[in-house]
Amino acid sequence: MKVPSSLDELIAALRCLPGMGPKSAQRTAYHLLQRDQAGAARLAAALTQALARVRQCEQCNSYTETAVCELCSSPRRDPALLCVVETPGDLLMMEQAQCYQGLYFVLMGVLSPLDGIGPREIHVDRLLRRATEGRVREVILATNFTVEGEATAHYLGEALRARGLAVSRIARGLPVGGELEHVDSGTLARAVLERREA
Ligand SMILES: [Zn+2]
Repeated sequence: MKVPSSLDELIAALRCLPGMGPKSAQRTAYHLLQRDQAGAARLAAALTQALARVRQCEQCNSYTETAVCELCSSPRRDPALLCVVETPGDLLMMEQAQCYQGLYFVLMGVLSPLDGIGPREIHVDRLLRRATEGRVREVILATNFTVEGEATAHYLGEALRARGLAVSRIARGLPVGGELEHVDSGTLARAVLERREA
């Protein structure tokens, strides 16, 4: 069997990027080799370094280089509020909207039985443990307003309420099917302020 050339391997490796088809992988590989070798070297080094150093925060799941992330260890955050989001990108959106002073839990996904993503995959056990540790007074469910996001919020709401916690859902200022990532900060801030009991 023929060993793939380095170029073939680069093109094949680029296919792991979201939305990268065979044609664009080819174009990207040629671009990096012909026009931006410095950029390519930097990308390779950054990838290697991130893979070696970045891990998930023991408390919120978000990416960090320390055991517990800066946000979770900040004395300026209110430990009585715990906001549940789907992804680290959603956490970032919430932070940019500057509407929230509590802590977070990142699910790293949503319930999606057809894709084999159940409660275990989104760390429900850890969320429940974290929420019942004693300091949390209110859990705010800020999953997306997609079918999966709503189903996940419903599931988590039941589980959290069964443990005696106050649960709220961010308001429907967001469009149906809306993803946090795609709304402006003002809309997101209003959705958090106008959250309702869930
Ligand atoms: Zn954290």
